[in-house]
Amino acid sequence: MGLRDRGIQIKTPEQVDQMRRAGLVVGRTLELLRSSVRPGVTTGELDAIAEDAIRSGGGTPSFLGYHGFTGSICASVNEEVVHGIPGDRALAEGDLVSLDCGAIVEGWHGDAAVTVPVGEVRPEATALMQVTEESMWRGIAAARLGGRVTDISCAIEQHVRGAGSYGILEDYVGHGIGSEMHQPPNVPNYGRPGKGPRLVEGLALAVEPMITLGTHDSEVLDDDWTVVTADGSWAAHFEHTFTLTPRGAWVLTALDGGEQRLGELGVPFGGR
Ligand code: MG
Ligand code: MG
Repeated sequence: MGLRDRGIQIKTPEQVDQMRRAGLVVGRTLELLRSSVRPGVTTGELDAIAEDAIRSGGGTPSFLGYHGFTGSICASVNEEVVHGIPGDRALAEGDLVSLDCGAIVEGWHGDAAVTVPVGEVRPEATALMQVTEESMWRGIAAARLGGRVTDISCAIEQHVRGAGSYGILEDYVGHGIGSEMHQPPNVPNYGRPGKGPRLVEGLALAVEPMITLGTHDSEVLDDDWTVVTADGSWAAHFEHTFTLTPRGAWVLTALDGGEQRLGELGVPFGGR
C-alpha cells in the first residue's frame, strides 16, 4: 500500500451492509424531496421534510452541525453548485435545485445528491442534468476491482466532454466514505485513468460530478458555504455512494442498488 493510500478505510461485508441501511435512508429521502419540489416551496421547507424523513427512517442527518452547517440537506439553486444553505428562498418555475443529503445509521454514512427541475425548465438545463447524471453512472460503471480511482474520473470527464461544451468543477471532488462522511481518497471528476489508489473490495466511494453550462471555476459566497459558478452559469450535481463486491458494483444510495442503470451500461450488479 502506497503513501497515497493511507487513511483509506476498508469495510467488512457486514459494515457495507450497514452502509446500505444508511444509503437507503438517503435514497428514500431524496425520492421524497424530488416529489416535493414545486414552484413556491422554500428550500427550508424541503430541509424540514428531509430531516423528518431521515430521522423517521432511523438515521441522523450528517450535514446538520457539520462544521456548523445549519441544514439537514444542501439546497443549491441555478448558479449555486453545492453547499447551499436551506432557508426562505422559494423555488420558482424554471429553476434547477440541487439537493444533497447525508445520513448516519449506527455510525455508518450514506451520501447522495440529485438535481431536480422546478416545473418546466429550459432545454439547456434539462440537457445539463442529463449529462451530469449520466456521467456519474459512467464513472461508477468504469470501476472494477483491481482498477484505479481515476478510472472513474476519466469516464466522467469523457462523457461530459463528449456531450458538449460544459464546465467540470475542479475545486470540489468525490470522496471515500464510511464511518466518516469524507474520507480518503479524493475522486476527481476529470483526469487520466489508471492513477490513484487501487479499487478493492470494501472500499466505498461517493461519486459526485458537478457540471456547469459555463466555467469550471467556482467561488464561495459571503455565507462561507454556498459554492457558485464564477461566471453565473447554471450547474447540476448528482451523487451516489457505491462499493464493489466480487460480483459487481453496488450503489448503496440507489433504491434498487443501481441494478437497472448499471445493467444498461453492461455492469453486473454486485448487491446483496
Ligand atoms: Mg453529498
Ligand atoms: Mg459527497
